[in-house]
Amino acid sequence: IFADVALAPRDPILGLTEAFNADTRANKVNLGVGVYYDDEGKLPLLKAVRAAEEARMKNPPARGYQPIEGSVVYDQAVQALLFGHDTQLLRDKRVITAQAIGGTGALKIGADYLKRLVPNATVYISDPSWENHRALFEAAEFPVKTYTYYDASTRGVNFAGMLADLNAMPKDSIVLLHACCHNPTGADLSNEQWDQVIDVIRAKGLIAFLDMAYQGFAEGIQPDAIVLDKFAHSGLQFLVSSSFSKSFSLYGERVGALSIVTESSDESARVLSQLKRVIRTNYSNPPTHGAAVVAAVLTSPELRVMWEHELAEMRERIRAMRIALVEKLKAKGVKQDFSFVIQQRGMFSYTGLTADQVDVLRDKYGIYAVSTGRICLAALNNKNIDAVADAIAAVVA
Ligand code: PMP
Repeated sequence: IFADVALAPRDPILGLTEAFNADTRANKVNLGVGVYYDDEGKLPLLKAVRAAEEARMKNPPARGYQPIEGSVVYDQAVQALLFGHDTQLLRDKRVITAQAIGGTGALKIGADYLKRLVPNATVYISDPSWENHRALFEAAEFPVKTYTYYDASTRGVNFAGMLADLNAMPKDSIVLLHACCHNPTGADLSNEQWDQVIDVIRAKGLIAFLDMAYQGFAEGIQPDAIVLDKFAHSGLQFLVSSSFSKSFSLYGERVGALSIVTESSDESARVLSQLKRVIRTNYSNPPTHGAAVVAAVLTSPELRVMWEHELAEMRERIRAMRIALVEKLKAKGVKQDFSFVIQQRGMFSYTGLTADQVDVLRDKYGIYAVSTGRICLAALNNKNIDAVADAIAAVVA
């Protein structure tokens, strides 16, 4: 039965990591990953996570099945993080949340649910976007197109182009938007630009699906969720996928959530019942440990403070690396202006390095970046930044 099976192409970013692992050079640097490393180049286990795990293991709970939509405490904690405590929206029960298997799992159950709701819709993702967005919505059998987003000449957003594309979309199109820290470009919309996007989405009857994978990595938990607040106040219905992979450094625990904002508590009950059918036929119900840890941190005043502090440290370290890289390139006499790297937000930067330059970085200097020129600033540290700046200065000279 498998005789004619073709070999699938390798995932481009995971393939890069395989090549990196096989490289025997001692000073190699992997800027291709989408993971936060600390200044020692290590994946952190957050103190707040460790404390919550230790408390849990002192009195280990039995592992029964969770409800289909996951733990209620967790789901409510996610809602509070996304939409703020005590807003009218939550009191009116206009938000439903289902624990999901990471941000990817949230996108997947959202995509499967939308396929049942609007089977003939087209999905629009930003050009460029996280590679898995296209693959995931195509796997859910949607046609996937792009809308204008990145402007290579300014290294920012081509906002006029984006608005024109949104205006041209047919009613009920699904628009995938990055809530903050756009992956891969690092270029985000301003608050005023979000207002205009929301106006077009309302006027054209589009369905917004906001992907929030980096809450807390741009400016902070609350400011990074401002777009959700704006959408909530607009009266629109929309979907939000969220992830704790980065903000809790819990990548392998697969902790995420899908939240859907509806028009009323009655609508919420009906939508949740349908979403539960999607989950039930997919993986039945989500795992326990990671979500229990996140819920414990978010609901304990002491652990919450500890986590917010650690999240701020991650955010500030990335920002310090952005500034240091720009300054070092300048100090090395690089003519090209790289100051856009400081304006971009989150873990990534579209550096403008060409595929050829990325090849030279890898072959000659052992520095791995994505062929599009995307680098992960969170993989820079005080030990490797000089070597990286030297190599970039050499390839752009
Ligand atoms: N959306 C975006 C934009 C991402 O960058 C990522 C992670 N790289 C995800 C979703 C998926 O997150 P998770 O690892 O929690 O599945």
